[in-house]
Amino acid sequence: LVTLYIGFALTLPERALIANIRRRAGSGQGSRLSRGIGDDCAVLRLPQKHEALLTTDFSLEGIHFRREWHPPEAVGHRCLTRGLSDIAAMGGEPRTAFLSLALPRGLPNSWVNRFFDGFLRLARQFHVPLAGGDIAESPSGVLADIVVLGSVPAGKSILRSGARPGDRIYVTGELGASSAALAQLFSGGKRRLRPADYPRHFFPVPRLAVGQFLREEGMASSMIDTSDGLSTDLAHICEESGVGARLEAGLVPRAVVARSKTPVDIRLALHGGEDYELLFTARPKKRIPGRIKGVRVTEIGVITHGRRMELVGPEGKVEGLEPMGWQHFGK
Ligand SMILES: [Mg+2]
Repeated sequence: LVTLYIGFALTLPERALIANIRRRAGSGQGSRLSRGIGDDCAVLRLPQKHEALLTTDFSLEGIHFRREWHPPEAVGHRCLTRGLSDIAAMGGEPRTAFLSLALPRGLPNSWVNRFFDGFLRLARQFHVPLAGGDIAESPSGVLADIVVLGSVPAGKSILRSGARPGDRIYVTGELGASSAALAQLFSGGKRRLRPADYPRHFFPVPRLAVGQFLREEGMASSMIDTSDGLSTDLAHICEESGVGARLEAGLVPRAVVARSKTPVDIRLALHGGEDYELLFTARPKKRIPGRIKGVRVTEIGVITHGRRMELVGPEGKVEGLEPMGWQHFGK
């Protein structure tokens, strides 16, 4: 068994807060964690013949969320989703999470508690213990840095670099719901949206079961999660694989949000980020189910020779597709 030692440092005397987090995070019993919060390092066993997957992502106030727009539970939930979704995109299984938080002076305790309500609810759902982290004072705004450690059978990670010309392109779920919520918020009509109307924005659930299924079944030749937006995430696959792509605009599954009768604008589905769906390719002979682990899977295009991305419009008109994925707030 491989044992990992992972740093856990306390730099500020926020002992009460840390004791509270530790109590709420629990001991990680039932997981492969043999030592969590409370020692210099977390100690974790990985399954035999697995290799570690490690990912880190910032959630920054004013960039990834606004306190006046996003309930604290949603901020905590989305913070962990960013890490879990990266593990899903490799076909991996999450093992444990680490969280470093910088909090501005005067931030109400209730905000922090509710942040952890959202964070730990999702952590429990996927059996991912919070095994350590750090707390510091922020000069301005809430800064949260999530680290997720996962694992995958050695050599079985699904990489961005495996797409070949002729492979079909697939995406899970529907796209554009998250950016539709942002468009509403930015339009200034409403300061608060009902999270129930926009669950994929406020409480996106990472597609871990789908990612693992695709890896176990050897179905996907390449994969990425749609955190930046379809056009930008597909460009990452093309770049790493040295290929191009042709998307059918009419096939891209567009989300229906709130009480709307019609799907979101195609531009939101193509370029809007933070849907945390899986975008993957498969060899043309592979039969990919239309639904995996209860999640819709849609074929949306084909991988091509050359480095160009193209979009086929409704009348068959072909135009160039530029990566115009989501530019974070405030731009
Ligand atoms: Mg990612």
